[in-house]
Amino acid sequence: MIRFEGVGKRYADGTVAVHDLSLDVAEGQLVTLVGPSGCGKTTTMMMVNRLVEPTSGRIEVDGEDIAHVDPVALRRRIGYVIQQVGLFPHRTVLDNTATVLSLLGTKRGRARERARELLDLVGLDPETFGPRYPHQLSGGQRQRVGVARALAADPPVLLMDEPFGAVDPVVRERLQNQFVDLQRRLRKTVLFVTHDIEEAVRLGDRMAVYGPGRIEQFDTPQTVLGRP
Ligand code: ADP
Ligand code: ADP
Repeated sequence: MIRFEGVGKRYADGTVAVHDLSLDVAEGQLVTLVGPSGCGKTTTMMMVNRLVEPTSGRIEVDGEDIAHVDPVALRRRIGYVIQQVGLFPHRTVLDNTATVLSLLGTKRGRARERARELLDLVGLDPETFGPRYPHQLSGGQRQRVGVARALAADPPVLLMDEPFGAVDPVVRERLQNQFVDLQRRLRKTVLFVTHDIEEAVRLGDRMAVYGPGRIEQFDTPQTVLGRP
């Protein structure tokens, strides 16, 4: 579903963030990109939705070379959740979720109905949380809204960049477990960046273990940990 072939990224200042990277992510797989800060995980991820352009190699999504896909059209097929999800502060949670759908051309009534389903899906009761404003939510709840919004267009691919990195450990573990359940139900193809090895093990069908600018190991968590 996502294929990197000899991909490199050199930023304008000369920094080589990723060097000759190849990776194959099967449909429905959740792959965690794990490793210390600065080794190219975020760069890898942002090349998939063309927020960053590779300087060499080729990236395919669903069999298509994304260099030839319009970035706006591409991003409709790829949900994106970052560490601090940006919600519109003056819109309710329901509107924040429904707005994405309206932008995609869904009629208002249907968009709001679907937004309620999405909130429910991520464990936020729509009656309670739909009318609230972002500042009335906990950090974990805001991240849930971010996930709901990323799922709005029902994209086959999700990119998640430390989505639970800024929430406290107890809430994080709950979010992780619920995300695993959600992933089992929805079978999205997911790239999930984290520097937390436990999170990578807990969530990943496969782990891509990074060293500076490259993937040093790509395998199941059991194999990476050396367990039978
Ligand atoms: P990670 O996600 O593993 O922390 P990044 O992909 O963010 O790694 O960064 C990889 C390397 O690229 C780092 O050395 C970082 O400083 C550098 N880098 C990231 N973004 C830019 C940029 N826009 N311009 C120049 N260098 C960058
Ligand atoms: P998180 O996503 O951060 O884990 P929780 O769902 O655990 O958030 O809830 C965080 C806070 O919101 C808790 O203090 C909890 O009491 C409150 N809360 C959770 N669900 C509801 C609800 N349905 N109505 C009112 N408050 C709620």
